Amino acid sequence: MSRAVTLLTDGRVVYPDVVMDDCEVVVQGSTILEVRRPRRRRTGVDQVISLGGGFLTPGLIDLHVHGGGGADFMDGTAEAALTVCRTHLRHGTTTLFPTTTTGTPAQLSAMLAACREAQELAAGEDTVPRARIAGVHLYGPYFAPDKVGCHLPEQQRTPRVGEYRDYFSTGMVRIATCAAELPGAAAFYRYAKKHNCLITCGHSNSTYAEMQAAFQAGMRHVDHFWCAMSSVSSLRSRCGVPMQASMEQFVMMEPEMSTEVIADGCHLSDDLLRFAWRFKGPERLCLVTDASRALDQPAGEYRFGSAIDGPVFRSDGQVGWTLDGRGLASSVAGMDRMVRNMWRATGAAVPEVIRMASLTPAERVGIADQVGSIESGKRADLVLWSPRLHVKSVMLAGRWFARLPG
Ligand SMILES: [Zn+2]
Repeated sequence: MSRAVTLLTDGRVVYPDVVMDDCEVVVQGSTILEVRRPRRRRTGVDQVISLGGGFLTPGLIDLHVHGGGGADFMDGTAEAALTVCRTHLRHGTTTLFPTTTTGTPAQLSAMLAACREAQELAAGEDTVPRARIAGVHLYGPYFAPDKVGCHLPEQQRTPRVGEYRDYFSTGMVRIATCAAELPGAAAFYRYAKKHNCLITCGHSNSTYAEMQAAFQAGMRHVDHFWCAMSSVSSLRSRCGVPMQASMEQFVMMEPEMSTEVIADGCHLSDDLLRFAWRFKGPERLCLVTDASRALDQPAGEYRFGSAIDGPVFRSDGQVGWTLDGRGLASSVAGMDRMVRNMWRATGAAVPEVIRMASLTPAERVGIADQVGSIESGKRADLVLWSPRLHVKSVMLAGRWFARLPG
């Protein structure tokens, strides 16, 4: 591997808490060597890249992503997985966690195998730039029957070790979702904890008490806040009176809990985004895309999940809709749009917004020793943005892509 030294100058370097204007980043091979004050003498430097005053941030990390560029990870082929990864790179994502939908055990196993194969291909000789797969998010099928959302309802089921043992045994699963009220949820959470996963509750109508039990078993995160989860009013029809606290109150009350928002401007209003940012803070709130295959595709009808039997939805180019037009069916936006929209909606400083899309997700999954911030020793996954936060270039493990593939 090349040990060439690249110097990145004239950029606004975004740290987790501050923007540094007067410094330069030294990259050696695939690693960030140091961030330092500019030096007059540049000995031992092979290449100098001027960033023209743009923001330089860590590469973005997406914990919840289904597809893009016409492909969905549930298509179950390495080719589809590579297409999704290539598509998301253009939006500033350098690390992602392919996310399962509900599906048959055979479809889930094929998806895991395809992601493994895509990882191996990407680590080989090929030079196509694309986001790296850091592990799979086992998301479907363990959803509550009344919170399946836009997923195929026939394939929702309760967790059984005889089934999920196979998925964990691949070594690919790093994030594991299960609705807390399902029978077997606690055993699933403990199993996932042994396999070093970020454990999350989603597509769930659980009560505060069920969340407490889940927390005891290792659950620490909730999928796409306010979407397909319990609320005080949803629990009134389940539990009657007195009215019950929900997943929402549990996440807000418990400092150790993190969550994520789909900040595309279509799923959640600006005031909900501001509320989540204010009350969870940038260290416990992640930005995710939840993107479908319709990302970077024309408006029209697509399948969510598997290309063979996934439910059909309609993309209007801004967001996905169920065919009856009454519910949303995941997003069609990349991480860059989530960052820009969160920035606009909350008025948060650039470092805070970027943290929610890089260091915070890295910390929650346990990969912050390798990625998530601009720090010496971490992988040189970097994004150059315009002053208005549009992606201009990406560096992937020390390789600079000034022109991103279309
Ligand atoms: Zn999703």
